[in-house]
Amino acid sequence: MSTVLVIGAGGVSSVCVHKMAMNKDIFTDIHLASRTKSKCDAIAASVKDRTGVDVATYEIDAEEVPAMVNLIRKVQPSLVVNLALPYQDLPIMDACLEAGVSYLDTANYEPKDEAKFEYHWQWAYHDRFKEAGLMALLGSGFDPGVTSVFTMWLKKHKLKTIRQLDILDCNGGDHGQAFATNFNPEINIREVTAPARHWENGDFVETPAMAKKVEFDFEGVGPKNMYMMYHEELESLAKFNPEMERARFWMTFGDEYIKHLTVLQNVGMTRIDPIKYKGKEIIPLQFLAAVLPKPETLGETTKGNTNIGVIATGEALDGSGEKTFYINNICSHEAAYEETGNQAVSYTTGVPAMIGSAMMVTGKWAGDGVFNMEEMDPDPFMDMLNAHGLPWQVKELDGPVDF
Ligand code: NDP
Repeated sequence: MSTVLVIGAGGVSSVCVHKMAMNKDIFTDIHLASRTKSKCDAIAASVKDRTGVDVATYEIDAEEVPAMVNLIRKVQPSLVVNLALPYQDLPIMDACLEAGVSYLDTANYEPKDEAKFEYHWQWAYHDRFKEAGLMALLGSGFDPGVTSVFTMWLKKHKLKTIRQLDILDCNGGDHGQAFATNFNPEINIREVTAPARHWENGDFVETPAMAKKVEFDFEGVGPKNMYMMYHEELESLAKFNPEMERARFWMTFGDEYIKHLTVLQNVGMTRIDPIKYKGKEIIPLQFLAAVLPKPETLGETTKGNTNIGVIATGEALDGSGEKTFYINNICSHEAAYEETGNQAVSYTTGVPAMIGSAMMVTGKWAGDGVFNMEEMDPDPFMDMLNAHGLPWQVKELDGPVDF
């Protein structure tokens, strides 16, 4: 029996709320609030249509802490699920502390004026959540989220230590547009244009954005170019697996995407500093995001699969020497759309947000303070992935990756 308040009404929220409604035994009372109430109402109508479940909707600016506190006091949830943007993480955490309720998100805090997503801002809340007897779970999406759970599952069941780790994120979907992003364009482009960073021998090594490219043959997709880049789970994975010699993150991009992004960058459209235009201040990247296709509109046309997973090499638990395992999920854009009206990038994030929420409201994952996914028992989460649309597979490889 639990009441949840979900903040944000984009693609990820839509999937999460649909999935919560499909698990009415866990989420008995679902409330949805966002900046644009009509988007909440559209999700609520689709949920009603598909599942028969009612979702209450509200308008909120999550950056207005007093208004958030009032809404939380009115709804009285046991958990606030933040599926708005990374900029809202800290005000929502402040509101949760003031109203005395636990917190979950899928992306770590990022200041608006600097493309720098790091955990230290949210880790600094640990003592306050601990003293209040509340739990905050950070990064319960796919990456971050499932990739950390995959890694910790390998460490619990297959490997005593991890020597090297590679996270491979492939979106083999084709949306039929010349250029579009599969999740919030502003956040996506800030992430992709930032310098690459990987973990090596106890420190982060920075290299230019998109400079290292490797072709990899993804099951369910085929050969794709993937690029090394920085991703936030590298920070928590390195913190909780200090024995790792190397950890890297790779994401696939098509040549068309790279071509468009390069031009947009060269002409200054991805800048995040304000410029004056006809007497008005605008941020070029926000203007670009406003003219690009909205990610939630891509579901109907996107065909193909995503394939996201982790390759880890380390000392086997059974004492049989060094072993390499590949654990991954393949998700179909068409099946995700059929089930929830959203494409697989939203689906692969919204389902783990629902599962993380289920872990918290059922008490399977519990604690006072701010936690990353690596600190929790991976087993009940992995069971729910299999049962709720993101089945995973694990196989042993012949040896460590050669790229
Ligand atoms: P969208 O841009 O589609 O949705 C964001 C929603 O947040 C919109 O409904 C928006 O409102 C709302 N919002 C923005 N600002 C505020 C505010 N001040 N107050 C209230 N609501 C606000 O994003 P996605 O659904 O694609 O992504 C949601 C989150 O998931 C992001 O943080 C993203 O970084 C994260 N993510 C995580 C992944 C993972 O694997 N861990 C993968 C993909 C995404 P409006 O409609 O008015 O604009």
